[in-house]
Amino acid sequence: MEKMYLKFNASSKNESFARTCVSAFILPLNPSVEELSDIKTAVSEAVTNAVVHAYPKNKENSEIIIECFVENNTLHIKITDFGQGIENVENALEPFFTTREEDERAGMGFTIMRTFMDTLSVESVPQQGTIVNMSKLLKAG
Ligand code: ATP
Ligand code: MG
Repeated sequence: MEKMYLKFNASSKNESFARTCVSAFILPLNPSVEELSDIKTAVSEAVTNAVVHAYPKNKENSEIIIECFVENNTLHIKITDFGQGIENVENALEPFFTTREEDERAGMGFTIMRTFMDTLSVESVPQQGTIVNMSKLLKAG
């Protein structure tokens, strides 16, 4: 089973780094252009959330971990942060729900992840962090 483990700081410049690493990981599986684009979009949304919401202030001692593995042509991605967590996950998953309206956030990140991936699940503990699990079957493989 192919696996990847990536740990990086929660800075916005690492968003494209994370997306690129996940792309490189799945390229040998011959994803379609559309699958690759969907996965990059979902990873971007999850990482942006960790940067913006999990660690709103002190990004110095902030960590984001991305783990990927592929099993039966299905890509599994787990994105973990140790930031401020989500008080009500059910609300957070609703389209247009945002706690950062003042920053002109649309509240569409989780909806985008759900649309572009086959599965999405979110676990979070306030003041401890958040884990986002997503998966997608790669049909081209
Ligand atoms: P957009 O993604 O459209 O810019 P958004 O980030 O507010 O807006 P979602 O990505 O759907 O929308 O997230 C919804 C809400 O869930 C956020 O406003 C935030 O309160 C919370 N949230 C999401 N990810 C995290 C996280 N990793 N840590 C803490 N809170 C989070
Ligand atoms: Mg978001």
